[in-house]
Amino acid sequence: MKKTLRFNSKTIHGGQEPDKAYGAVMPPIYQTSTFAQKSPGDHKGFEYSRSGNPTRHALEKSLASIENGSFGLAFASGLAAIDAVLKLLKPGDEIISTNDLYGGSYRLFKKIFEDFGLRFHFVGMQDISHISEKINGKTRLIWVETPTNPMMNVIDIAAVSKLAKENNILLAVDNTFATPYLQQPLDLGADIVMHSATKYLGGHSDLVVGALVVRDKELADRLYFIQNASGAVCGPMDSYLLLRGIKTLHVRMQRHCENGEQIARFLQAHPAVEKVFWPGFESHPNHHIARKQMSDFGGMISFVPKGATYEDAVKVVEELKVFTLAESLGGVESLAGHPASMTHASIPKAEREKSGVTDALIRLSVGIEDAEDLKEDLEQALSYLS
Ligand code: PLP
Repeated sequence: MKKTLRFNSKTIHGGQEPDKAYGAVMPPIYQTSTFAQKSPGDHKGFEYSRSGNPTRHALEKSLASIENGSFGLAFASGLAAIDAVLKLLKPGDEIISTNDLYGGSYRLFKKIFEDFGLRFHFVGMQDISHISEKINGKTRLIWVETPTNPMMNVIDIAAVSKLAKENNILLAVDNTFATPYLQQPLDLGADIVMHSATKYLGGHSDLVVGALVVRDKELADRLYFIQNASGAVCGPMDSYLLLRGIKTLHVRMQRHCENGEQIARFLQAHPAVEKVFWPGFESHPNHHIARKQMSDFGGMISFVPKGATYEDAVKVVEELKVFTLAESLGGVESLAGHPASMTHASIPKAEREKSGVTDALIRLSVGIEDAEDLKEDLEQALSYLS
């Protein structure tokens, strides 16, 4: 691409060129493990699909482009991407992480990497002083997820980045919920952007892929070494599907945001609902930060039905008909989940309740259906509580 494109064009053209062989507009699915060589080391740029594959390469360039980065890396899952970041560290190193984060990230930190000598501190990052209190000579990485999953807290990326730079600490931001349509962490000073591309980037609930994007060449080289040496790469078919998904990211996100706002306001006004967590409300404690660093507020919402128990929350999600009860988020179809028994079940009850993930909390990923159908569905499911 010669010209610097705007975001809504980068999703379609960023880093993409017609295929060299026949001019195919979509990169072909190079479903091959290996590539012929004329003589040892004399090949056309690819030798083995773990080290590099043309379809994955096209995806990695698209990822770098939409996140305003220089280098993209695609992994077999979001967790594989996080795993690669943690492998930059050594035993004894310390990490400060958001306390309200995806349960699987917490499990990877606590149950795998703590045994390899890494030490994790989980803090509420809405108050930056909680991060400074934990910084010492061994702190190597700050791990931010914003908006947080599932409490929808918003963390000030620019402020955390300033603190990280002053202390020479790497800053990684899990941008899964916001996507680069809403927020661009590298522009706000982050060193690494991570995605569960399984979610909004893919957008159709038909793949599991992870992504990292960075600007620094040396960091990119170290991550590429880990990607190739550990081997959890994204396959050609998933690379193709994700590229296809990214092309409509901006139009999908626009509708996710519109529907998200309608559903958040509907729930807020509903007599059977006690509390709604959505960063677009002016009353949201971090609304001013969301306004500053996000261009809109997204389609993720959590809420608590009035006076509800664990069983009541389970009943509500079971009764939904248009929302599908399922793990995951970010697809065109609306999904509902019960974090205490699903996405966050791997976090001990006392620990998850400290950050607000109570038994009655319900999480919605608002899709791009007609918002009236979604409201009617919530209305009928909530009626089971009266
Ligand atoms: N980060 C966030 C915010 C997530 O929601 C998820 C999955 O739900 C992950 C990371 C892990 O990604 P994956 O399921 O693609 O491994």
